[in-house]
Amino acid sequence: MKQKPIVHRKDLHWWEQFYIPQIINGMRITLSQVFRPKFTRQYPEEKWNPPSSFRGRPVLVEQNGVERCVACGLCSRVCPALAIDVQASETELLKERYPVRFEINMLRCIFCGFCEEVCPEEAIVMSKEFELVFRHQEDAIFGKEKLLLPADKLKDRLEFLRKNR
Ligand code: SF4
Ligand code: SF4
Repeated sequence: MKQKPIVHRKDLHWWEQFYIPQIINGMRITLSQVFRPKFTRQYPEEKWNPPSSFRGRPVLVEQNGVERCVACGLCSRVCPALAIDVQASETELLKERYPVRFEINMLRCIFCGFCEEVCPEEAIVMSKEFELVFRHQEDAIFGKEKLLLPADKLKDRLEFLRKNR
């Protein structure tokens, strides 16, 4: 790329040394923005409902009162932040295996969505939840009680995934 020549202050006309044209141009741009529609919102009073493509915190899908997860451990293997801890056990149900313990460390999670992408059961998906506040580090480790969400509440995301896979 061709470099612009360096202009020294002493080479400028006295009118240019005051930077009046640049200041006027800056004011013109600022004023033109004042009358344009606002893109900001009064958060947190005004809530935002993200689209289904949004990647909020990962959650586990619950169907008919049980988690869809079969504790294969793929999500834990693929997670680049090593945020997922799964411990498998056997069950009498048709799926044969389930996670007796499933934890995600939300302080580690980078919301990449790899766990969702790799899951063969559509058992872990990215929700619309993005407001996460913790007082202590241990509060950020979400177990099944915080991770499980009924499939009905995740319909948007599940449909989005089916359309875009
Ligand atoms: S979203 Fe990414 S970082 Fe977070 S748990 Fe899933 S794979 Fe790990
Ligand atoms: S959430 Fe999916 S990928 Fe992770 S252990 Fe369960 S079934 Fe396997």
